[in-house]
Amino acid sequence: MSSVVQVEYVGDLAPYDDEVAALAEVGADLTVIRAADGDALVDAARDADVIWLEWTPHLTRDVLARLPRLGLAIRWGVGYDQFDVAAATELGIAVANAPSYCTEDVAEHALALLLALSRQVVHRDRQGQQGLWRHGPAPHRRLAGSTVGVIGLGRIGGRVARIASAFGANVLGYDPVAPTIDAPVRRVDLEELLRESDFVSVHVPLTETTRHLFDTGTLALMQPHAALVNTSRGGIVRQEALVEALDAGRLGAAALDVFEQEPLPADNPLRGRDNVILTPHEGANSPQALRDLRREVCGATVEWLRTGWAASIVNPQVRPHARGVAQGAR
Ligand code: NAD
Repeated sequence: MSSVVQVEYVGDLAPYDDEVAALAEVGADLTVIRAADGDALVDAARDADVIWLEWTPHLTRDVLARLPRLGLAIRWGVGYDQFDVAAATELGIAVANAPSYCTEDVAEHALALLLALSRQVVHRDRQGQQGLWRHGPAPHRRLAGSTVGVIGLGRIGGRVARIASAFGANVLGYDPVAPTIDAPVRRVDLEELLRESDFVSVHVPLTETTRHLFDTGTLALMQPHAALVNTSRGGIVRQEALVEALDAGRLGAAALDVFEQEPLPADNPLRGRDNVILTPHEGANSPQALRDLRREVCGATVEWLRTGWAASIVNPQVRPHARGVAQGAR
């Protein structure tokens, strides 16, 4: 019997009836755990062939080194910055994600935030709820004809570019890696994108290269009326620099779904501002996304247990020395 261990976060994925049934067909069982830290995870998942991780604890080099049977670690999500992929690769452990379950959701969320900023929806709603009528200046900005800069032209960024273009925006794109994409985007360098855009939407993974991509220097390149939308990872924007730019009027507005510290602390200085919209990491949420997420995670596991490989593995360089199923339970 192979062992799959689900490391829960808040328990909102339970029950796991479909997963248990699918795994039973390939001779695997599912154990559900919660782990306060890496030591607790190692204790509870020592015999795991496969680990499914929601958010915490992170699979660091130290944790991975103490999981001798682990052949496959899967993230319940697109980003996999919770895993030390280099260490996993050295150890022969394949790492996979759920690459496309929420592409439309996050793109639509980014556009919803962008439109909420351009039309002042949240600010105006507060006024409407208080009975204020046509109150104060209306710094609304028409999206049609505005310039939208998209950083990261992968699955989500590409879709954002297509939708923004359908609204009549001029779309600039920056991505040093992605090949030509099927969207009406003018590719420019980062500096030109930041200087010219009225709205900037970020869609890059969190890596050592992208951490604090938005810092004092990059934020200073943006126009004082411009707005930043971040639905990728909190660590891409240095919060202190963002707060300073907003306070100094060097940046017009921000809409954030992700934060350096999650959940967002009660005394966070981004709270309580008319020009900042905060959503609690909800960008990927929809019943359709949840259904597809379950299919992608469980499907990759079944594929790996059957064949020793899965299409969603993100470190293909592990393949020649991958631990594989044979080295685990079978
Ligand atoms: P993707 O891999 O399809 O696209 C990411 C793109 O970023 C790639 O084209 C890559 O070339 C580009 N990139 C990498 N480094 C870059 C850099 N330094 N500058 C510019 N571009 C760079 O991923 P995706 O499916 O579009 O998802 C993007 C990110 O969105 C994920 O990594 C994840 O962290 C985040 N995400 C957030 C939520 C949420 O709930 N808010 C949900 C899903 C994904």
